[in-house]
Amino acid sequence: MSPSSNPVAVNAPPAGKPLVTPRQLTLIFVVALALAWGFLPEFTVSVLSNIGLYALVAAGLVMLTGVGGMTSFGQAAFVGMGAYATAWICTSPTAAAWLGGAVSPALLPWAGLLLGLAFTFALAWVLGAVTLKLQGHYLPLCTIAWGLSLYFLFGNMEFLGGQTGITGVPPLVVAGVSLATPRALGVVIWAVLLLALWAMHNLLDSREGRAIRALKGGRLMAESMGVDTARHRIKLFVLAALLAAVSGWLYAHLQRFVNPTPFNLNIGIELLFMAVVGGAGHLWGAVLGAALITLLKEKLQDVLPALLGTSGNFEVIVFGLLMLFVLQRFADGLWPTLSRLASRWVRNEAPKAAPAASKAAPAQLAQRTLPASGELLLEASDVSKRFGGLVANNAISMTLKAGEIHALIGPNGAGKSTFFNMISGVDDPTSGVVRLSGQSMATKPSRAFAALGLGRTFQHVRLLGQRSVVENVALGAHLRARRGWLAAMLRLDRAEEAALMAEARRQIERCGLGAHADTPAASLSLGQQRVVEIARALAGQPSVLLLDEPAAGLRHLEKRALSVLLSQLRAEGLGILVVEHDMEFVMNLADRITVLEFGTVIATGTPAEVQANPRVLEAYLGGADDELLEDAR
Ligand code: ADP
Ligand code: MG
Repeated sequence: MSPSSNPVAVNAPPAGKPLVTPRQLTLIFVVALALAWGFLPEFTVSVLSNIGLYALVAAGLVMLTGVGGMTSFGQAAFVGMGAYATAWICTSPTAAAWLGGAVSPALLPWAGLLLGLAFTFALAWVLGAVTLKLQGHYLPLCTIAWGLSLYFLFGNMEFLGGQTGITGVPPLVVAGVSLATPRALGVVIWAVLLLALWAMHNLLDSREGRAIRALKGGRLMAESMGVDTARHRIKLFVLAALLAAVSGWLYAHLQRFVNPTPFNLNIGIELLFMAVVGGAGHLWGAVLGAALITLLKEKLQDVLPALLGTSGNFEVIVFGLLMLFVLQRFADGLWPTLSRLASRWVRNEAPKAAPAASKAAPAQLAQRTLPASGELLLEASDVSKRFGGLVANNAISMTLKAGEIHALIGPNGAGKSTFFNMISGVDDPTSGVVRLSGQSMATKPSRAFAALGLGRTFQHVRLLGQRSVVENVALGAHLRARRGWLAAMLRLDRAEEAALMAEARRQIERCGLGAHADTPAASLSLGQQRVVEIARALAGQPSVLLLDEPAAGLRHLEKRALSVLLSQLRAEGLGILVVEHDMEFVMNLADRITVLEFGTVIATGTPAEVQANPRVLEAYLGGADDELLEDAR
């Protein structure tokens, strides 16, 4: 058997060590918990139930903060929404009058769940749409603001019982069984938690998951791949809020009363602390964090007053110090450290099965019909860009046709990258028009360019360094697949996912990086990372390819391979616009060359014409910038 057809054998650690996969470990944990549940002491069960409730909220925060890069201190308010909604529906005469006896008492909690989710969904969507536009520190500050407002709202609403809250919340009844005790309801809590973890794990391992992972630090890149990052941010925010609301719903039926105290800002901070301490970007870190903080809080509340001789909320101080320590020593939380320690016994899951091994039926990705050779693809007319007083692009006009390689050259600072941003929708021209496939692209975002078949790479490589090459490349095919969040969570996207992975591998293979498909992108050389970007652009099946300095950092043989690849793509009918400093590379490859200097086109023509142009020679040989000479070395 060849090593490539048996990925497990390749990854196997030294023989003789006990082996267990993360999946088996999860299963062992769940089975052990289930078996022990009936025999654990009352107090332990109650603590475990609380841990489950906290972990549910923290898991949402792991998605929001750890994966998505958005910090929220206000999650406790959404827990309150879930709790108050069900408490109100189950106890209020007004609610009873509204429902007009149409809902039997046993079903009231479920009506409460629906109400809580609906309210939370609407509120989170509105809050998200307004606050997620904020940059930097303003977003966390804003979450503090609405976290506080909602908390005070709970305490000041007459019909929600004010500061005393609502008592007499009935227990959940499922199939005639009353879940009145923590031992009974705890089963539901942990089942919901495990289900949520499973769904979010699935979500992260999907097309939409790759888009979500790009939200933190890769938004510009993701937009260029066709991802609507603003929408994904809101959806992630809503998801985290809904998980908090479900936790609140369960909490209300566990405690059987609600008041505002557990939903204040303190708890919001504690919840964030759980997510961060456990492991910002790791779902199981939420469970670890929730367990650690809950247990620690119990202990500290016992020990500190005895130690200090007075009672008070001293644990808050200890928490603060602890947070400092953890963030200093374990910036990514404790979970990554834990998994590193366990790596001797826990075998990493085999890399995603190659297409041949996939069980799912092959699905078809969207295909673009490539334009006929010579067809006008991209047209820039008098495109100018001013940064304050600096004219970075001065009335640049140029065209790109199907089946040609057009090179854009010029000294550093000539305005090449700026022009790339103009014709790819990253930035809007100050004046002038960009047309893509005949459509005016004024004010359109870069994802609209991607949708029309524009693929690009970046001068400064923009990859998700921690993710594998194949995942990075698959992000390029984002627009060729359709399955959304829900399908991903429920694993209904497997056929499409297999097709995406197969396509990504095909492009990686074609770009000569087949051996690196499953390595994290950051561990490749910079030159190879540029090639990964090309593979990612190709995965989108573009008709226009923009390459910003693709050969920089490549070795001689790699440059030659890139040349061959680009020629091949040209023969297939792609229009390729390339910015490149390597003159030998450019002159041998390009059909046409446009030369920029100080933002202005000084020459355009075939390589021979441009090389003979006196203005070009002067710009390169006479100026301070002598890249032509440099490359002649
Ligand atoms: P090139 O890619 O040809 O080296 P650039 O397009 O990066 O050149 O830059 C062209 C000019 O525009 C440079 O003088 C640069 O400093 C300036 N510039 C680029 N981006 C910005 C920006 N966002 N704000 C202000 N000046 C900019
Ligand atoms: Mg540049």
